[in-house]
Amino acid sequence: MQETPLLISTLLEFGTTAYADSEVITWTEDGPRTTTYGELGEMCAQLAHALRGLGIDGDQRVGTFMWNNAEHLATYLAVPSMGAVLHALNIRLFPEQLLYVTNHGGSEVVIVDDTLAEPFGKLLPHLRKVRHVIVNGAIPETLQATLAEHAEVHDWATLLADRPTSYEWVSDMDENDASSLCYTSGTTGNPKGVAYSHRSNYLHALAGAGTFHWSAADRLLVVVPLFHANAWGFPYMAMLSGSGLVMPGRYLQAEPLATMIKQLKITGGAGVPTIWADLLRYLTEHEGADASTVRRLVVGGSAAPESMMRRYQDELGIEIIHAWGMTETSPMGSVAIPPPRLDEGSDEYWSARATQGRLLATFEGRIVGPDGAVQPTDGTSVGELEIRGPWIAGSYLTNEGDAQADIDDRASRFSSDGWFRTGDVGALTADRFLRLTDRSKDVIKSGGEWISSVDLENKIMSHPDVVEASVVNIPDEKWGERPLATVVIKEGSTTTPADLRKHLADNVAHWQLPERWAIIDEVPKTSVGKFDKKRLRERYAAGDLQ
Ligand code: ADP
Repeated sequence: MQETPLLISTLLEFGTTAYADSEVITWTEDGPRTTTYGELGEMCAQLAHALRGLGIDGDQRVGTFMWNNAEHLATYLAVPSMGAVLHALNIRLFPEQLLYVTNHGGSEVVIVDDTLAEPFGKLLPHLRKVRHVIVNGAIPETLQATLAEHAEVHDWATLLADRPTSYEWVSDMDENDASSLCYTSGTTGNPKGVAYSHRSNYLHALAGAGTFHWSAADRLLVVVPLFHANAWGFPYMAMLSGSGLVMPGRYLQAEPLATMIKQLKITGGAGVPTIWADLLRYLTEHEGADASTVRRLVVGGSAAPESMMRRYQDELGIEIIHAWGMTETSPMGSVAIPPPRLDEGSDEYWSARATQGRLLATFEGRIVGPDGAVQPTDGTSVGELEIRGPWIAGSYLTNEGDAQADIDDRASRFSSDGWFRTGDVGALTADRFLRLTDRSKDVIKSGGEWISSVDLENKIMSHPDVVEASVVNIPDEKWGERPLATVVIKEGSTTTPADLRKHLADNVAHWQLPERWAIIDEVPKTSVGKFDKKRLRERYAAGDLQ
């Protein structure tokens, strides 16, 4: 067979010619703005010429500091296709982490949305390698001046104007060369960097297209930020399926999302559970809302409560597909499409849908117990999930000057025979369904037994008066650790912790019942909308939650 390298430029060229009529719709202050895939291809070429002009002529890094919009998507496609390396910066990281990842990634050019120029301006003096800043949109002169003190500033439209609309994409690259960098969101420590290759992204895109069966008839709401976990593969997957994409920009609240769904007749999308939970509340509480065009929504990033998935199905006819993944797994690892032998709507069927899903083809997975022994795939033996395969990270990025402790910490996640230790705890069935019970740091180790915080959260959240619940492990003199349940109650409800404990008592073993409860206004979230357990534990230690 011919040894054609698997390159992102192939996806770009295919998508923007085969589906030249498909559309990317960016939601803006002034309403929707449409760019066809054909125009997107031209924008990619113009951007590549412009970057070339700024000295990007090899595998230098180009960063983005942007919301989801057509220009960000063009950068996602053009930068790797010209042989350079994309680094989408997570705009929501704490400044300290953001500086760390930007300097560690080493971007020389950063493309910044006008609405983000101000926070970026505060970082810029501390970014060692950035030579050029390209601003997408119009920014006030004062801000231009601030940026210009530390880098050459360009305006996207002027920089791209009059450039040729085609580009000789690199076609003889090694498919194992890096195409993009992504850092974990740092839920459990300092962000760790992963370099994806053209090959890994290409294979991941094929698998995504084959798993979700999106088509050119779809219009997908990409709520997952392009800077989070490789955008779950959507930019590259879309080039294969030709699906229309709706880029919500900075309008990520339930109300504008519901407007986009109704006005643009969205058929699918992807986002974290908190986004879809807010949307569900909005859709079911507002009479004018209409989500009848939506077929399926992918949810991942943290465990999706079964109660939410059921309500979407029963009340709105929308299938929520639960998926699991990590920055280190490109990120798609497993997708919960239940086996057809299960009767739709049966408890068994729902139980399969609520799992993290079936590990995808092409990689191996195993569960390793606390003693290091590989556990049987019986669906109940719990341990840490380890995986290996063509789109799983083989190492983390290290740079000269990294602290030895950081280097050792990163290396400890990989075994000598190629297994990546995910840090996620759960069980696998013989047919590869994964049920995660926790992250290893969040498991509640009570008197030698493990309690799953995710399981308790799901069960608390099945109470109709509960908006959100997060359960964390707190130190306990007698048991080592015990669960603390933090709960957000619906406005106006009089439900008490005692009522919730009673609700839980019908569903879980007595010894797992939390003694400590805190009713809070909102569960703190990480930069990508996950429950921030680190902050909850800190609040507990500071005596704020008892
Ligand atoms: P970070 O590690 O900083 O949170 P990632 O965004 O890469 O950054 O997060 C990956 C982690 O998110 C996984 O290891 C897992 O703990 C969690 N996760 C992702 N999807 C799910 C899911 N469907 N159910 C439970 N946990 C999930």
